[in-house]
Amino acid sequence: MVFETPRVDSLPLRVAIIGGGGTGAALAWDLALRGFRVALFERGEFLSGTTGRHHGQLHSGARYASGDPEIARECMAETLALRRLVPDAIEYNGGLFVALDGEEAAYGERFAEACAEAGIPAREIAPARARELEPGLSPRVERAFLVPDGTFDAWRVPAAFLAGARALGAELRPWTEVVGFDASEGRVMAARVRDRTRASEERVEADYFVNACGAWGASIGALAGLEVPVTPAAGSMLAVKGRLCDMVISRLRPPGDGDILVPQRGLSIIGSTQRLVETPEGLLPTDGEMEFLRRSGAELAPAFADAEVDSAWCAARPLFGAALDEAGGRAASRDFAVLDHESRDRVAGVASVVGGKATTLRIMAEKAADLVCRALGVERQCRTLETAPPSWRQLYRGRVP
Ligand SMILES: Cc1cc2nc3c(=O)[nH]c(=O)nc-3n(C[C@H](O)[C@H](O)[C@H](O)COP(=O)(O)OP(=O)(O)OC[C@H]3O[C@@H](n4cnc5c(N)ncnc54)[C@H](O)[C@@H]3O)c2cc1C
Repeated sequence: MVFETPRVDSLPLRVAIIGGGGTGAALAWDLALRGFRVALFERGEFLSGTTGRHHGQLHSGARYASGDPEIARECMAETLALRRLVPDAIEYNGGLFVALDGEEAAYGERFAEACAEAGIPAREIAPARARELEPGLSPRVERAFLVPDGTFDAWRVPAAFLAGARALGAELRPWTEVVGFDASEGRVMAARVRDRTRASEERVEADYFVNACGAWGASIGALAGLEVPVTPAAGSMLAVKGRLCDMVISRLRPPGDGDILVPQRGLSIIGSTQRLVETPEGLLPTDGEMEFLRRSGAELAPAFADAEVDSAWCAARPLFGAALDEAGGRAASRDFAVLDHESRDRVAGVASVVGGKATTLRIMAEKAADLVCRALGVERQCRTLETAPPSWRQLYRGRVP
């Protein structure tokens, strides 16, 4: 498919986005399509934060249906949107929720009802049929439901949005860390940014700033004297070589640890775990987590027990809110929020987008861009639902097209 640069009616307003993960990438594309001049600052390589390290499940929402129906609906809508907008970054392989014991089998009714209420097509199939579809599945399967889950490439979806933003003239600046803000009369006027490859600093002015720093959101907020309620929660994953399944396999039970097996390129990845941490920096899986994940993978697909390990890693979920429950934040919502710091903290010219999931990056960007428009008194509708970005490949080529 040939990408034709969309026509944009340019505005003389500059928006600076801090954080080049999936959320910042989708926001750069959305704002550029609305006509803003966009600058995106990322202190490392693009997508080097949580986005480049997630599980890669394109959620249908079935996982959240019984606990969080709104998020479930949102995931379903965004899954359908992303499948249309960035098809070459998605493997639409479907998902199976399987019960491995009586308690999980009994959860089936609640699961099916909740999926129906959230508009997620979930269809029960016989355990034998599930094993025909996925021969590597545990022989213990007692019940199975087919759902429209999928797999997406953690880099390629946001890379397509970055490529699109750049095609519309956005200034994309990796290796550029925001180290401070200058405010005057209750308004953020400029950010101080440091080019880490030259150890040089400059002052960047903009009409509006958006903190899209995910699990780092609180520390960026603190630079402007803002309280941003984000709690980093570390999650570990373990990948073995080979495809033990081609569909996303989940345990038929409320969301918890070690309950999703995701095929990703030539690997099978079991995840994840969750523990609250002080900082998203330098996270590593613990020995206990790796042993637990190996065991959990083998419960779903017995060959996981002896498969050759490819890699194990850990990333920080940006949980919205304090999330200080006993289950390490598991009870915290996977919802997101766009925080208007003018109404919250009496500091104008800046907002934070916090929480959410990689699956919902587009709608997070839409809500954040709506706030930017309101704050700057601009009437521009979101165009990301009907405008496909270029291929992710364009990010690695010269200018687009
Ligand atoms: C273990 C695990 C598994 C997950 N699995 C899934 C899944 O299967 N499906 C799904 O939909 N979601 C999944 N998620 C959730 C998803 O990964 C995150 O919600 C999403 O990636 C967050 O994106 P973000 O852009 O908000 O944050 P990030 O990707 O973390 O981006 C924030 C960026 O800000 C940058 N930054 C920080 N400080 C500064 C500064 N001072 N100046 C400039 N830049 C700065 C960081 O370097 C970082 O790149 C998972 C999360 C975890 C932890």
